[in-house]
Amino acid sequence: MADGQPQPDCLFCKIVAGEIPATVVRQTELTVAFKDINPQAPVHDLIVPRAHYANAAELAAEAPELAAALLVEAREVAKAEGIAADGYRTVFNTDAHAGQTVFHVHAHVLGGDFLGRFGT
Ligand code: 5GP
Ligand code: ZN
Repeated sequence: MADGQPQPDCLFCKIVAGEIPATVVRQTELTVAFKDINPQAPVHDLIVPRAHYANAAELAAEAPELAAALLVEAREVAKAEGIAADGYRTVFNTDAHAGQTVFHVHAHVLGGDFLGRFGT
């Protein structure tokens, strides 16, 4: 059972700890938001809980209040980036078929222009 403890080889735990640099957009007691290194839209930020959970499913099961905090923070990040009024997309990739590559749960926040359809 996951308990949120930092994992030694986790890239996003290292960003949370400041051991790997990132362009931080916002921080709260529970979350850190930073720019995606390979943006897929004019604004593409990632929001992670400071605690380590592998993906959105594990987070929802083990720490639902933290899952809610991530969604609340997505709105705050969108406001801070100036994309809240025009609209934005919040994405959680979960495991292989979704193409998850970093196994520390993160919300993608994408916006700044009309986004393509997705799901293929
Ligand atoms: P996933 O495919 O797991 O949903 O998303 C992982 C995201 O992390 C990708 O969009 C990728 O560009 C981003 N990413 C991977 N390594 C780094 C990094 O070292 N720094 C930052 N800021 N983003 C990263
Ligand atoms: Zn982690």
